[in-house]
Amino acid sequence: MSRKHIVAGNWKMNKNLSETQALLTALKEKKNTGDAQVIVAPTSINLHAAVTALNGSDIQVAAQNMHQAESGAYTGEISASMIDSIGINTVILGHSERRAYFHEDDALLAQKVNTAIAQGFTVIFCFGEELEDRKNGKHFDVVESQLKNALFHLTASQWSHIVLAYEPVWAIGTGETASPDQAQEMHAFIRSTVGTSYDANTADQVSILYGGSVKPGNAKEIFSKPDVDGGLIGGASLKADDFFEIVNAF
Ligand code: PGA
Repeated sequence: MSRKHIVAGNWKMNKNLSETQALLTALKEKKNTGDAQVIVAPTSINLHAAVTALNGSDIQVAAQNMHQAESGAYTGEISASMIDSIGINTVILGHSERRAYFHEDDALLAQKVNTAIAQGFTVIFCFGEELEDRKNGKHFDVVESQLKNALFHLTASQWSHIVLAYEPVWAIGTGETASPDQAQEMHAFIRSTVGTSYDANTADQVSILYGGSVKPGNAKEIFSKPDVDGGLIGGASLKADDFFEIVNAF
């Protein structure tokens, strides 16, 4: 199995420029003792500074979002080619906060995914059910339809650009984590869904990250599950010590 382990920090709307630089300096001093690829996603205004600060380090930088159009009259937005032009080739798309607060739906996300792949980017594609869905036993159906609607138009070879991030909405920022067994159960389902729609190789190659209240204290157990290939970390990525304890859980 040649799947990549990835631990990505989603800083959301946190850290101004000097705070960003301070955290990056602290992260650069940390030792990655395992085999996880480390990614950080500062807010867009600080992406360029992050790339500069991390020059010479193995830590990569990702954008948290981008617009689907190439360019044009979209006030306040950033494009794939702008992200590319500062040396970044990874973007997070479909985060539940983008879906909930900015009305991003599967059809829009399919367009964003296409634009990102056309730019040669890796997409960390987030999806996951709400608490209500899980209570009603609909979590597998919801996840399957999110994947089908936003990603299953891609060709098998385009899946080399995709990293999946399963993030049950009820576990994000709540302190409530899916149990390691719940994460494994869903990740195995996701992998088999990809396998059914594509092929065993595509399913086997795609890294599936878990996100939702991953902390230093629970990362090792979650990451020990066979279909969990890493984590997308929110709150705990804002402190260098906590984040690298999670990175080194691999
Ligand atoms: P959290 O956020 O780790 O703070 O729960 C995860 C995410 O939103 O990606």
